[in-house]
Amino acid sequence: VLQKMGTNCSICGRKLNQENDHLSSDCGGDCWGCIGEIEADMGGEYAIKQLREEFKAGLRNDWLPSPKVKFNKSSDVVEVCLKNPLGEPYVYENFELQLYSELMFKRTKVHFDKLVTTNLNGVVVIPINKKRNLKKDWCKVTRGDKIWTCRIEERVKPNK
Ligand SMILES: [Zn+2]
Repeated sequence: VLQKMGTNCSICGRKLNQENDHLSSDCGGDCWGCIGEIEADMGGEYAIKQLREEFKAGLRNDWLPSPKVKFNKSSDVVEVCLKNPLGEPYVYENFELQLYSELMFKRTKVHFDKLVTTNLNGVVVIPINKKRNLKKDWCKVTRGDKIWTCRIEERVKPNK
């Protein structure tokens, strides 16, 4: 059944398809303002490029790109990398970092929970015990009122 589209974004309530509001384009009932950010968070190349331009044009002053979390078995560390909306590293940026495991009955075990500061490359490096099963390990990054949660998993370099 085809539902009648609302005239407001179902996520943020913005009026859709307003000529004077570039971010109000209708993306299936949600505005491009919301959808673009979700797609960029998921690593969408087009969205990231587009959002960068919109940031430069002053349309997304509040945009904080999602952190990149890497785990490398051989080096035994979790790396959290913060980039600013222009794609440059956030240097000496403070944020709250939590590493935790999911247990049964929706309980969690916290392994790391501290305020950390990025280095000159915009990276924070945290040692992690590789003997543990990483399949149920998560990383939570908090910056102000924005929170990102992502799974810690080993990044395999794509073959090119
Ligand atoms: Zn919206």
